[in-house]
Amino acid sequence: MSWDVRFTPIVLSERCETLRGEVRDFLTQQRKAGIIPEVPTRVGMDYSADFSRSLGERGWLGWRWPKAYGGHEGTALERYVITEELLAAGAPVRAHWVADRQSGPVLLTFGSEAQKQNYLPRVAAGECFFCIGLSEPDSGSDLASLRCRAEKIDGGFRITGTKLWTSNAHRAHYMLALFRTAPATPENRRSGLSQFIVDLSTPGIEVRPVLNLAGEHDFNEVHFDGVEIPDDSLVGTLHMGWRQASAELAYERSGPERWLSTYHLLARLVETLGPDVSEDIRTQIGELLVDLVTLRQMSLSVAGMLEAGQEPTVQAAVVKEIGTRFEQRIPRVAHQLLSARSDYDDQDNTVRDLLEHAILWSPAFTIRGGTTEILRGIIARGLGLR
Ligand SMILES: Cc1cc2nc3c(=O)[nH]c(=O)nc-3n(C[C@H](O)[C@H](O)[C@H](O)COP(=O)(O)OP(=O)(O)OC[C@H]3O[C@@H](n4cnc5c(N)ncnc54)[C@H](O)[C@@H]3O)c2cc1C
Repeated sequence: MSWDVRFTPIVLSERCETLRGEVRDFLTQQRKAGIIPEVPTRVGMDYSADFSRSLGERGWLGWRWPKAYGGHEGTALERYVITEELLAAGAPVRAHWVADRQSGPVLLTFGSEAQKQNYLPRVAAGECFFCIGLSEPDSGSDLASLRCRAEKIDGGFRITGTKLWTSNAHRAHYMLALFRTAPATPENRRSGLSQFIVDLSTPGIEVRPVLNLAGEHDFNEVHFDGVEIPDDSLVGTLHMGWRQASAELAYERSGPERWLSTYHLLARLVETLGPDVSEDIRTQIGELLVDLVTLRQMSLSVAGMLEAGQEPTVQAAVVKEIGTRFEQRIPRVAHQLLSARSDYDDQDNTVRDLLEHAILWSPAFTIRGGTTEILRGIIARGLGLR
């Protein structure tokens, strides 16, 4: 049995804090210009291709990638600081988020030289957006059961099937997708899967909206009706896509977006309740703040491990498992405390709107990017318990 799942404390360098100041100055200007709301009334990330482009111009996308591919050769901790500041400010980062966080790094590790040169500089410039094509109508947690297939044809592949819950497919340029390219073997259900870049403007692709609980069009069903894509769409090695997709999921699980989704609600709650509160309320808010600070340290520690070239799969799963339940607790506590206080000042309804939006979004927190139960399985295996 191995219990060696550590979170080494991280102290941020002066360079990181200087960078934080630069990002904050920029965000203050954006707030003054009305591009970022003074007081957010929604949880999560808004979408603005223009804002993503302005981050690209400042050099804050593709932060860790080689300069040869439009990157900036920065550190994981510096990237952490940039993302943390953007999220804490409620900046509209949705357009580039997936491409910068995971599609780009996957291409950097597994892509061909031509793919790196073609896509990475455009992602780093904030001009090229990706979505994630993993889940299907009958395959989510059990991803190896996916049925969407890519058959080999002359000069390329023909894709048939359906992806589901594909966030942003209606606004992205490309999908980094996992398709079945050969039948699974009885010994290995994960064999015979391959990763592809699919240009979403290719004929035969239909993107249908799926409205979420808040009534918003955020994710989609994407139908492929014999869609033909060229040979050079294959990423990495044919039939070896499982390992690549697993690496992609590790990027998806460790960042501050896994515990900051309802941060604005917590900030507004503290402001709205004011300093004159009972001991009980003080304790409840205090408990949330302690968890916030602890999660931040754990998340920073994961960034430190990435920096050191380690693969913190288990630690990232721990942060997401605890972080997403923390994100769900904030609206529960806010609802309870605000319902009990009819005298609070919310003349413009901002805290009520934010709370409503958080309640409607919060079931998704523990599902997207891997459910709580799946993460607990990863953690248990990492601890040698299964
Ligand atoms: C907001 C949002 C955005 C999303 N965006 C994307 C996207 O962009 N691209 C994409 O590909 N997917 C996306 N997804 C899909 C997401 O990855 C899946 O919903 C998730 O992996 C769960 O799969 P499922 O919905 O098929 O549920 P299932 O896998 O059917 O799970 C149903 C329930 O059973 C539990 N369960 C399943 N297997 C086990 C097990 N072995 N042990 C214990 N419990 C188990 C689960 O934890 C869950 O509670 C998104 C989902 C949400 C909510």
